[in-house]
Amino acid sequence: MFYEDKKLISIVIPCYCEEDALPAFWEEINKTSQNISQADFEFLFVDDGSNDNTVNILRKLAHEDKRVRYISFSRNFGKEAAMYAGLKNAKCDYIAIMDADLQDPPRLLIDMYKGITEEGYDCVALRRTTRKGEPVVRSFFANCYYKLINKISDTEIVDGARDYRLMTRQMVNSILELKEHNRFSKGIFSWVGFKQIPFEYERQERFAGETKYPLKKMLKLASDGIISFSTKPLKILQRGSEIV
Ligand code: UDP
Ligand code: MG
Repeated sequence: MFYEDKKLISIVIPCYCEEDALPAFWEEINKTSQNISQADFEFLFVDDGSNDNTVNILRKLAHEDKRVRYISFSRNFGKEAAMYAGLKNAKCDYIAIMDADLQDPPRLLIDMYKGITEEGYDCVALRRTTRKGEPVVRSFFANCYYKLINKISDTEIVDGARDYRLMTRQMVNSILELKEHNRFSKGIFSWVGFKQIPFEYERQERFAGETKYPLKKMLKLASDGIISFSTKPLKILQRGSEIV
């Protein structure tokens, strides 16, 4: 039941094979929502073509709790597509994106909400302070990647920025105006502007299951970022063709 004077928050949760993490995530996000009594919630789960029990868990949650809705993809399209579908279907005043594995703790939403409603920001965006716990090779390549992309792009791509963020409707509408097929949200969040503030935190261990970002997916995302936010690759190709 929604009350007219209350603000509404949509939580968008992309899920790919998260059957082991979802029950604990649901418990946590439920507790958090009770601690933000000034707002009502909708929980919009996006099942990104999972081949485990994820969709059955979501169906059950939606049946038991009217605040839960879910979208289920016909196959695995990737987290970027899942976030876009979630943002497109979220109808509330404020919209958060949150991973299902509890690495981005739901309880932080309480302070993030204050950042928007009391301090007047359009976006409070989580930024991890360290890469502690991450394989050394992955950290090394991530550091090199952020140095490179920030050198060749006019848009700042914030190292350590997470997709976990709370945004105003206005900012989300601007994000949705960008219809690119291969999305790189870290760049888009920065490119649209608005009054944004980073919220630093120490990233937690994944609650259950494994990362759904194997090397191949990481490399694709990294190249989408460079192609979307820098003209350098095109210029290099152009120069190459002139020489040939
Ligand atoms: N995810 C998704 N589709 C994918 C890969 C991941 O919807 O193809 C979801 C995943 O279920 C999780 C979030 O995106 O809720 C972040 O993924 P993950 O935790 O595997 O990434 P990492 O934290 O290791 O970067
Ligand atoms: Mg994770």
